Amino acid sequence: MTQLQVECVQGDIARQADMDAVVNAANAQLMPGAGVAGALHAAAGPGLAQECRSLAPIRPGQAVISSAHGLPNRHVIHCLGPVYGVDEPSDRLLADCFRNALVVADQAGLASIAFPAISTGVFGYPVPEAARVAFDAIAETAPKLVHVNHIRLVLFSAGDCAEFQQALSRSSLRSSG
Ligand code: ADP
Repeated sequence: MTQLQVECVQGDIARQADMDAVVNAANAQLMPGAGVAGALHAAAGPGLAQECRSLAPIRPGQAVISSAHGLPNRHVIHCLGPVYGVDEPSDRLLADCFRNALVVADQAGLASIAFPAISTGVFGYPVPEAARVAFDAIAETAPKLVHVNHIRLVLFSAGDCAEFQQALSRSSLRSSG
């Protein structure tokens, strides 16, 4: 395991030009939608949806990789988060998203990956709980990573960014970065 940098920033997941991969908070069909999926598909162009047709459908917790098309990254890693209180156990399925996306990125030899707050929009996951699950999953997966050395959480609002920052400072990852 190399030295791992983990950080939280407020911003737009479609504008993370210094990262090898961005994660999509996808729907099962990997089609454009609201929120993160809408922003990424709009910036990527129609080629992304076209490529995704052969990768869909995916299950909650699963992660699949595609090209980034018009996005300023090398790849998009698509995760289907759990619908809070519906896809159970929601905490394990959300953790699976982070674990599986990191493993997929590492297997592709990527060094950096940016995540949005998966499941906290339309899927209704409370932000403080989602943040804790995310950092626990990252901490658990970190020792297995060979190539990934930079993980960024990109939060749309200042309030969500503060919640994630607080969860990071309470996690076992706090000394990294
Ligand atoms: P889900 O369906 O998994 O809940 P959403 O895309 O609805 O996914 O929302 C996930 C989170 O991403 C929400 O907190 C939402 O505010 C945030 N979000 C929406 N658009 C963007 C964007 N362009 N960049 C970063 N985060 C975003």
